[in-house]
Amino acid sequence: MGRQLETMNIIFLDIDGVLNCQIFYTNRKKSKNIIEHPQDQICTERVEWLNQLCKDVNAKVVISSTWRHSGLDYCKDVLKKAGATFDIIDKTPDLRHEGCVRGNEINLWIEKNKEMLGVWRSDFNSYAIIDDDSDMLYWQRNNLFLTDTYSGLTPNTCYRIKRHFEQLGCVPACP
Ligand SMILES: [Mg+2]
Repeated sequence: MGRQLETMNIIFLDIDGVLNCQIFYTNRKKSKNIIEHPQDQICTERVEWLNQLCKDVNAKVVISSTWRHSGLDYCKDVLKKAGATFDIIDKTPDLRHEGCVRGNEINLWIEKNKEMLGVWRSDFNSYAIIDDDSDMLYWQRNNLFLTDTYSGLTPNTCYRIKRHFEQLGCVPACP
């Protein structure tokens, strides 16, 4: 019996600095395309890497990016148009005006969804936070996979996240 049977694998997803980055925007400038649709701000190659990662580790996605302030349906729509096939199940709550950091919002989401997750917040470990900012909580440090605005999500980050879920026993080591 693996832990994946007891709970869910969740990826908390930031967008700017993860699914877009300096390399992406520089390459876009060279091409003839003019940015005009929201999905044009998303790197389809990085979306592909995330598609594969979510498939490999059987993870659902919760949007933690500020893009969520435009609504969950909006995020789903834009990401789908950029090629996303992963399952977006929710967005984190907004605690911007409560003097809180993003880690608090993620923490509250986990707390609020304990019934769906099947475990209490303190026992829930099968998650990865992908973000180019590190405003998370101390106990989330081993679940944070930091990207940077230069290269965004990379295959190396995806590999490390996969290893993270494998080491937790949340995915079969040999698929
Ligand atoms: Mg960001």
